[in-house]
Amino acid sequence: MGILPILRWPDTRLETVCDPVEPDEDIGRLIIDMFDTMYDAPGRGLAAPQVGVMKRLFVIDVTWKEAQPSPVVFVNPKIVEASESRSDAEEACLSIPSITTIITRPDWVIMEWTDAQGETQRQRLDGAWARCAQHELDHLNGIVTFDRLDAPARHAAEAQYAVQP
Ligand code: ZN
Repeated sequence: MGILPILRWPDTRLETVCDPVEPDEDIGRLIIDMFDTMYDAPGRGLAAPQVGVMKRLFVIDVTWKEAQPSPVVFVNPKIVEASESRSDAEEACLSIPSITTIITRPDWVIMEWTDAQGETQRQRLDGAWARCAQHELDHLNGIVTFDRLDAPARHAAEAQYAVQP
């Protein structure tokens, strides 16, 4: 079991676009450590750049806090289609502790990715799954929640973050 240090905004690695995971890369240990780190934090999602690995990979488990765990690994994920309908919801981020922001996102997305076994997956994600996966995908593109706020909301959120103990 390996708990990895989680980078905190404004670490520049959180503003960096990540590289694809190559087919022959051994990411088994990284995946185990990322789940350990996510559950320990505790959180519902963790992207590789949040632990300083600049690769296109994230893990999520939307249900474990309330019900049975449902861990899913997304390697080289991409959004194939997104709903035109959008909703606002609160989002937290392990790299921006104690701050909750209201983010607007598509209600559902069709995502394509490679799983931990190297198989291609393509699935429509709804509700909390859609929101969590889009949040983590943002990390792979160097985007954090603050980047999705308008200027006044961002200013307020950054000011609140700055005075955190
Ligand atoms: Zn995050």
